Amino acid sequence: MNEEKKSLNFLEQIIEEDLANGLPKEKLRFRFPPEPNGYLHIGHAASICLNFGLGLKYNAPVNLRFDDTNPAKEEQEYVDSIKYDVQWLGFKWDKELYSSDYFQQLYDWTLELIKEGKAYVDNQTSEEMAKQKGTPTEVGTNSPNRDRSVEENLELFLKMKNGEFEEGSHVLRAKIDMKHVNMHMRDPIMYRILKKRHHRTGDDWCIYPMYDWTHGESDYLEQISHSICTLEFKSHRDLYDWYVNQVYDPLKLQPKQREFARRNLSYTVMSKRKLLQLVEEKIVTAWDDPRMPTISGLRRRGYTPESIKIFSETAGISKRDNVTDVALLEHCIKDDLNKTAPRVLAVLDPVKVIITNYPEEKEEFLDANYNDYEDGFGSRAVPFSREIYIEKEDFREEANKKFFRLKLGSEVRLKNAYIIKAESCLKDENGEVTEIYCTYDDDSLSGSGTEASKRKVKGTLHWVSAKHAIKAEVRVYDRLFTDEAPDGHKDKDFKEFLNPDSLTIIDAFVEPSLKTAKNLDRFQFQRLGYFCVDKDTTSTKLVFNRTVPLRDSWAKMDN
Ligand code: ATP
Ligand code: MG
Repeated sequence: MNEEKKSLNFLEQIIEEDLANGLPKEKLRFRFPPEPNGYLHIGHAASICLNFGLGLKYNAPVNLRFDDTNPAKEEQEYVDSIKYDVQWLGFKWDKELYSSDYFQQLYDWTLELIKEGKAYVDNQTSEEMAKQKGTPTEVGTNSPNRDRSVEENLELFLKMKNGEFEEGSHVLRAKIDMKHVNMHMRDPIMYRILKKRHHRTGDDWCIYPMYDWTHGESDYLEQISHSICTLEFKSHRDLYDWYVNQVYDPLKLQPKQREFARRNLSYTVMSKRKLLQLVEEKIVTAWDDPRMPTISGLRRRGYTPESIKIFSETAGISKRDNVTDVALLEHCIKDDLNKTAPRVLAVLDPVKVIITNYPEEKEEFLDANYNDYEDGFGSRAVPFSREIYIEKEDFREEANKKFFRLKLGSEVRLKNAYIIKAESCLKDENGEVTEIYCTYDDDSLSGSGTEASKRKVKGTLHWVSAKHAIKAEVRVYDRLFTDEAPDGHKDKDFKEFLNPDSLTIIDAFVEPSLKTAKNLDRFQFQRLGYFCVDKDTTSTKLVFNRTVPLRDSWAKMDN
């Protein structure tokens, strides 16, 4: 797409206005701030593409900041996976930073706030505090601890920090306004006690700052010009600004929080809490199970970074909550693989074909292009012999004129090979066809230039040579959920909508050139779909994942 011609999205418009109003371009700075409490998903990809995309567009730095303020849920494994995923998508961060790096600074600022009478220690129960909070239509009431002296607050806060109190017994609250129309401004909690080991700061701290207190200050410390987050934080904006204003130096840049709608995708769930549940309850094999909407799952499924970036761009960003059709994501990968994946031959549901007039000991190695219509992919040798496999559903004893595949008495072309004609077949006691007997036209080899090779026959079938083919396990995936919005039902748990048939394992035959295929290599199995090598592959066992079938439900919808 032509960069000039694309209209600006609303966040770019905001940035353009800020630049027009005097913000120097070199002050633009963005960040992507994941909490390392799970693996990234396709929703995060929207945020990554947005923030890093703005960085590229404005030639501005983008930080990768781990928002690691809850040691109960965060782990190094998640940090590592997040870094890997962002890099895999093709983005480069300016600095790798951690909110935990700012714990001391936040603590020091907090002491100042206490001294200024802007924060106090509350030792009521959370139920009592919740009651005093009021409702959106009813103002709150002050805590009896709101007017503690500065000295007492400093002393109690120090005791909190020194581990002298139990978890949940004390919190530090900002003293703002219990009557504020915005509930987030009614004396929000700044610190809670958590006696948990932190994956970076170890046992240094047992009080941890809350999201709001941490996020704005981290943005300020890093001098982020536009702190982009999702819509549910819109109501936090007043608090974000209040906190930043407490420490703001007018000579510095004041970060702005701006919100966009989170990416939701049909037929899946995207909250990390729910994804973790699927992993822990072994409903899927791991975070990178190819049915998961995680970036690692999509990668293992065969998605390319390019397809995910194009999806993010096509789906766009919005100011209102919405659901993106998963068919668009599938369309994006199909479109990319159509341009990049070599075409090979594999048979998923085989039936044997015996070519009775082909010499028994003979074998040929046919030159077959990796791609039908573009050069640059080269070709490989595909063995041909007297016994081959084709797809069961590609043969019928009798069929009407619209069946362009193999039927008794008529001809088809074998891809890259010869024209064959079905003469008879053998069936088992259930009436199932077990062998098909054909004859071939030995003058009809594809590309040989003979009259017979140019003969038009209606159907072309994929096939593999029986004695040369190698066995492979093929994992065919369907949607993990049967409902478009599995977590959108008030009275039902999202797991009630799990699709019992989301994985089918098939023993297939693939052409021998695939023997050397490596983890994540992607192919089109001709007439079947796109497949990629799974990491479970060993030197003796090939495993493929089906990325997507060939038919495209998105394109058909006339989008
Ligand atoms: P979840 O609800 O899935 O646990 P989260 O918002 O808690 O997600 P974070 O790690 O805090 O996850 O998110 C990092 C960044 O990615 C944040 O800026 C967040 O707003 C953004 N983000 C998270 N989920 C989505 C989504 N579905 N669409 C767009 N952006 C998202
Ligand atoms: Mg979060």
